Amino acid sequence: MIFGAVQPGDWDGYMDYTFNRIRAFVNAFAPLKDITVACGAGAIALGFPVITNDESEDSHMWRVPKSLLIQPNTQDFIETSLEARDIKLKITNIDIPVAYSSAFEGEIIRKKDTHVDIDGSRLDCFELVQTKELTEVEDHSIILEGPDIDEFEPGSKMNLAVIVEVAGKNIQTDFEPVFERKFHNFINCAEGIMHTGQRDMIRIRVSNAAFAAGFRARHIGEILYAKVKSEYGSVVDKCQVRIFTDPEKCKEERVFANTVFDKRDARLATLTDESVDVFYTCILCQAFSPSHVCIVTPERLGLCGAVSWLDAKATNELDPTGPCQIVTKERLIDERVGRYEDVNEAVQQYSHGALEQVTLYPILEDPMTSCGCFECICGIEPFSNGFVIVNREHVGMTPLGMTFSEMASMTGGGVQTPGYMGHGKHFIASKKFLKAEGGMGRVVWLPKALKEQLRTRLDATAKDLYGIDNFTDMIADETITEDPEQLLEFLTSVGHPVLEMEPLL
Ligand code: SF4
Repeated sequence: MIFGAVQPGDWDGYMDYTFNRIRAFVNAFAPLKDITVACGAGAIALGFPVITNDESEDSHMWRVPKSLLIQPNTQDFIETSLEARDIKLKITNIDIPVAYSSAFEGEIIRKKDTHVDIDGSRLDCFELVQTKELTEVEDHSIILEGPDIDEFEPGSKMNLAVIVEVAGKNIQTDFEPVFERKFHNFINCAEGIMHTGQRDMIRIRVSNAAFAAGFRARHIGEILYAKVKSEYGSVVDKCQVRIFTDPEKCKEERVFANTVFDKRDARLATLTDESVDVFYTCILCQAFSPSHVCIVTPERLGLCGAVSWLDAKATNELDPTGPCQIVTKERLIDERVGRYEDVNEAVQQYSHGALEQVTLYPILEDPMTSCGCFECICGIEPFSNGFVIVNREHVGMTPLGMTFSEMASMTGGGVQTPGYMGHGKHFIASKKFLKAEGGMGRVVWLPKALKEQLRTRLDATAKDLYGIDNFTDMIADETITEDPEQLLEFLTSVGHPVLEMEPLL
């Protein structure tokens, strides 16, 4: 019961958890065997109602309100079951030729099954939301400029740029990245379509089966239109989608999209934890880790890397009772580690008592919990007194003698693991990263690809914190060594600042 954070022996707590948090029910079809009746009784004990059509005298069934429901017509089982658990379905009609359900969200499309591969790492591709005036948007207009999917040979790579333009009386430009973050989920729910990444690093695969069913570029627009209007109807009055597939046009529009992304990042870059009045919770991952709470601050984005402070703020404005709740920061206990009474109260409340306290900046003292979707994980490296960081994409070994998966298995599930912590990629270059342990100068090893991705920001932060130029070159990677003793030799040879720092333990 680690996810429910129920302690062994706490029977009432366990029953309360299964009844209130797990919306399960049992459909038991006649004729019922004794073993089925016994299992059904067990399910009722856990708070899961049983719906059966067995009314025979032999079965000795009798109605028990809310627990044992007799429904003679099996065609009404689903409706009766949903009513019994107070489950409400929101149906959105999407005009596409393939099935659409969250059941397809994790579907993997292999290369051999792919009709077209929209690959942002090789071609000019992106997805972008833009706010417009009401008069500039024609609701449900979906415009395709360029060749459609059926004009490509099976297995081809294809450019795709999607601009979703939204308008509404209460809309704000701050909502744009919040809508964009959801595209991953929106597109993935279509059967035979796989979506990963965001901004200009997207990848969308359309399977041979989806293509054969008639899926074309316009249907991506249909999905986005329907989901944006249904999920954000309170602020989006009109929505239109422009889709580009012509390589030259995609290249031109990508330049524009990147200026929008840069402006968003620059706006966040000027904010610090000290310059804002509130932080935000994010509990989106409680579906998998019920006791996990991210505290999102301007200098510390959510550990999935997809929820910045501005995104959390916009999410709270869009859905005031949703996953991102305001956390005041008026009762500071210890500035060095970022310990606040307000934050502790918030994590106690939103972890349902599983978590007593967290700090914002250290890894060794009450670190934040990790769910399971962190972009990176860092772990203490005892030889050098530093920290090794590995990102999810890196499949190789680290100087800790563990891969990403092995390090991840030591944390996750919404528990605190001092010495190991999941975090977002962009947190590494923050001045608050490892602040309590001496700052980013404790980083001794990073996979090369991640190092290059973060180079400019790492160097700038190290220059500000330690007055060091080209700090990234002092960090080892897999092309230098994966051995802890050789790592120490390398750090000594480059004069890495960790060697001057206090021992961690
Ligand atoms: S990792 Fe944190 S910020 Fe990201 S979705 Fe999960 S709870 Fe939210």
